Amino acid sequence: MVTRKSRSEIERMRQAGRIVAEVLDRIEAELRPGVSTADLDAMAEAHIRSSGAIPSFKGYPGINPNRPFPASVCISIDDEIVHGIPGSRTIQAGQVVSVDAGAIVDSWHGDGARTFYVGDPPPRVRELIDLTRDAMLAGIAAAVSGNHIDDISAAVEAVARRAGLGIIRQFVGHGIGTAMHEEPQVPNYRTGRPGRKLEPGICLAIEPMFTLGGHDTRILADDWTVVTKDSSLAAHFEHTIAVTADGPQILTQA
Ligand code: MG
Repeated sequence: MVTRKSRSEIERMRQAGRIVAEVLDRIEAELRPGVSTADLDAMAEAHIRSSGAIPSFKGYPGINPNRPFPASVCISIDDEIVHGIPGSRTIQAGQVVSVDAGAIVDSWHGDGARTFYVGDPPPRVRELIDLTRDAMLAGIAAAVSGNHIDDISAAVEAVARRAGLGIIRQFVGHGIGTAMHEEPQVPNYRTGRPGRKLEPGICLAIEPMFTLGGHDTRILADDWTVVTKDSSLAAHFEHTIAVTADGPQILTQA
C-alpha cells in the first residue's frame, strides 16, 4: 500500500534527510587516499547519533538472517554498485566511491547516496558519475502530482540510454516513510505499466544505479556487496523526495 504523508510527517523526514546530507558532506570532505572505510563509517555513525537520529542501515536484515548489515553507511568501490561494507580497507586514488546513508528521526526515514571520484576522473568515468546524478535529478523533476511512477522511470532511463550506460535492474528506488523501503517500487527503466499515480504526500527514494558495462549483478561472499558481473565501474545517486502540490521537494539536503 502506498501511504501519503502529512505535512508534519514530511517535516520529520526532512530532518532525517538533512542529517543524511550532512553525513554525505562530511564523508566527501574526508575522502582521501589512506583513510579507511571503517573510519568514514565511524564518523558517519557519530554524526547521526549526535544529531539525535538512528542509523537506519545498522542491523538491517539482508539475504542471510545471521548477517544483518554491520555498519551505518554503505561504501561501495569501483565495480561495487551498492551495499559495500565499511572495514579496514583504505581509499585509494583513482577509485569510484559510492556512499549510501540512512537516518531515522522519530521513526521517520531519510535515505540518500552520492558517488565520488578520488582525484581527477578520466572523461568516461566523469560522464558516468555526472549522468547518474543528472538521471536522478531528471527523475525528481518528473515526480509531479498527476504523473505516474513510470514517468520517473522513463526520465531516468532516457539519460542512461543517450550515453550508452548500463542500468541496474535488480535494485530500484522505493517509497519511504516509517520504513526505509515501502511501496511503490521506482524502477530506473520503463516497465510498460504506468504504476502508481503520484499525489501530494507520496514520498520516494529515487536512486539510479548506472554502469560503464551491462546490468547483470552478483553478490559477494559477505552476503551484502553487490558488484557488476562484468566488473564494470558503477555509480549511484539517491535523494529522498516528497511529491507536493508545489512540485517535488528534495528532503535529503542540508
Ligand atoms: Mg534507497
